[in-house]
Amino acid sequence: MQLASGAQIAADVVLSATGLLPRVALAQAAGIATARGIVVDRLLRTSAASVYALGDCAEVDGLVLPYVMPLMQAARALARTLAGAPTPLRYPAMPVVVKTPVLPAVVSPALAGAGSWEIESQAAAEEAGAGLRALFRDTQGGLTGFALLGKAVAEKGALAKQICDWLPAPAAPA
Ligand SMILES: Cc1cc2nc3c(=O)[nH]c(=O)nc-3n(C[C@H](O)[C@H](O)[C@H](O)COP(=O)(O)OP(=O)(O)OC[C@H]3O[C@@H](n4cnc5c(N)ncnc54)[C@H](O)[C@@H]3O)c2cc1C
Repeated sequence: MQLASGAQIAADVVLSATGLLPRVALAQAAGIATARGIVVDRLLRTSAASVYALGDCAEVDGLVLPYVMPLMQAARALARTLAGAPTPLRYPAMPVVVKTPVLPAVVSPALAGAGSWEIESQAAAEEAGAGLRALFRDTQGGLTGFALLGKAVAEKGALAKQICDWLPAPAAPA
């Protein structure tokens, strides 16, 4: 395999994970504010009146989350807003379910802050037939992220409930 730099790497298999970038050219050409994605507020309003954005292209409070669960949260909130009940977007912790039938995988990224991983010994987990579990804890010991493989994916719901909302519901006005 040859890299863009010209370097050559000998390998039997190449796994490429190149990431995703929102396409913001159309919004920019329309004069709509963009950063990593199309910038929206918690009501999913862009900088242009009556123009909303959600899904992979949208950046909410600095978060660009290009997978299905965030856009479902956004779609439900925006539907209520457009129907006349302004509903600020809330993001609970939303694990990414990777559709790999041979070895199910779930990842809940730790979005911010310092901490460290606790990784259950793979050999021990395999012996128990339980898969692999890795927990990310912040400096106070709170759970802020995790990765699960194999049978351990059954713990997804219970672990996700232990993680604070990524975007909490705004406090009700006094
Ligand atoms: C290979 C792959 C695997 C994935 N697997 C998973 C998974 O397992 N789990 C998960 O949760 N998520 C997964 N995702 C992410 C998920 O598919 C996306 O989050 C989701 O499709 C985003 O929906 P969207 O409507 O925001 O954008 P899109 O689905 O990208 O839809 C945008 C549409 O807008 C159209 N468009 C773009 N520009 C213009 C323009 N200028 N004019 C008119 N039309 C335009 C595009 O053609 C496209 O049809 C995966 C994504 C990829 C690429």
